[in-house]
Amino acid sequence: MFDCIVLGATLPGMALGAMLARAGWKVLLLERKQVAGGRAAPWYRDGYCSLPGIPRVRYGEKGPFYRICKQLGLEPRLVPLNQAWVLDTDEKVRRITIGRPGVSRADFFSVWDRFFAWRLLRNLRGETLEDLEEENLEEWFVRNNIRGSLQKYLKVLACESTHCTVPEKISAGETLRCFQKVFQLHAYLAYPREGWVPFLEQLEQEIRGNGEIRWNTRADGIEIENGRVVGVKAAGTILKAGQVVCAVPCQQLAGLLPEGATTKDFERLCRNVVPSTALVVDFAIKNRIFHKKGLWFFLDPLSYGAFLSNLCHRHAPAGKQLATFVCPCSPGEIRQPEVTRALEKKIEANLKKAVPAAEMAVEWKRSHLVHMLDSVAIQADQTRKDRPGYHVPNVKGLFLVGDSTCAPGACMEMEYESVLACFERMAAERND
Ligand SMILES: Cc1cc2nc3c(=O)[nH]c(=O)nc-3n(C[C@H](O)[C@H](O)[C@H](O)COP(=O)(O)OP(=O)(O)OC[C@H]3O[C@@H](n4cnc5c(N)ncnc54)[C@H](O)[C@@H]3O)c2cc1C
Repeated sequence: MFDCIVLGATLPGMALGAMLARAGWKVLLLERKQVAGGRAAPWYRDGYCSLPGIPRVRYGEKGPFYRICKQLGLEPRLVPLNQAWVLDTDEKVRRITIGRPGVSRADFFSVWDRFFAWRLLRNLRGETLEDLEEENLEEWFVRNNIRGSLQKYLKVLACESTHCTVPEKISAGETLRCFQKVFQLHAYLAYPREGWVPFLEQLEQEIRGNGEIRWNTRADGIEIENGRVVGVKAAGTILKAGQVVCAVPCQQLAGLLPEGATTKDFERLCRNVVPSTALVVDFAIKNRIFHKKGLWFFLDPLSYGAFLSNLCHRHAPAGKQLATFVCPCSPGEIRQPEVTRALEKKIEANLKKAVPAAEMAVEWKRSHLVHMLDSVAIQADQTRKDRPGYHVPNVKGLFLVGDSTCAPGACMEMEYESVLACFERMAAERND
């Protein structure tokens, strides 16, 4: 009998499993594949190694990821990503700073923009922004007369934090909350200096300290008796547990539940939420052509990226580099090969304009269509209140963790906020 079974060896699933194990719970983690990381599991090619996309840490040592690390007694060293460059519409590269040392240092703004940005930040101080969540960014730009470089700045920030590139769809409240937090905390993004693989290994070790992990083991269903979870069916047997956590996208939850176990509304909510989608392009570069640590933003198509091997040496063989770009696009775009090919070409052309030495240095590239970047896209018509909660209604002891949940924050923040919130609720239910 286990205290808890976690389904899915994702970053949030393993982090929660590790926290529970450290708190003395007997944990079993089931993963149908043989690798940890879920959608962000590592890939390897020709000595290059990476995780899809750019699994960054929001708000560095001041964000939820680091709070989890502290609870686990881990202190991963982080590389701050407060510096960024924008390949502007005139094809010039302009530097911006996000977080420390602050917006006014950016050489991106005119004097007017700087004044507007300062006024905006001052007005945002202390605002909850809840009434702006369902307003879209475009409406907010018009209402507040935000134009020029400040609008561009907010659009790139919104693209990175919500994985949406269409201002008419982006939630103004979510974007501004991220902007507000960045300047309150003086931190934007960071990256683990040793990469994610050692971190996943540490989580695995922590879980094994008071439980076990079974790879290549698929959960076939969640067992429920009298409205209470009693275990999980896997490989033809019932594994008994007091609580179960699903670290799988909420769209897959119904397939694991017996008919009628939860409410029809909750099932519908989980089934109908729309994920965000993207094209991710990795460039293997045969020599060192760019030395700085920071983010790149391209405006056409709106995308962001980084030379990952500058942040963690493990991403590329010695003397080589790996650059990765994420281009959020709509589900319609991602289904059309001619559209994604055109986007990929533009991204490559942008890289070569941004860093001209890339012209002769790309060894190979790897394009990857991501049909589920965030399992629930953060949009003005899909805000926190439109996402499933941490607890599955009508089933005691059944929880949901990950980026499908109603956790607050932007991409790469929600996952870890959901872990902290779920941990508290599980402990409270156990003590009941
Ligand atoms: C390109 C990209 C970049 C990303 N960048 C970041 C980032 O920077 N930071 C971050 O925090 N997150 C990032 N994510 C998101 C991150 O991958 C997810 O938030 C995280 O993996 C949690 O997702 P999830 O729990 O919804 O499940 P998923 O990631 O979809 O994983 C579900 C896991 O459960 C397993 N599984 C499914 N069904 C079963 C079953 N029946 N039995 C056993 N196992 C099962 C699957 O094999 C899989 O391993 C990124 C994702 C992508 C695609």
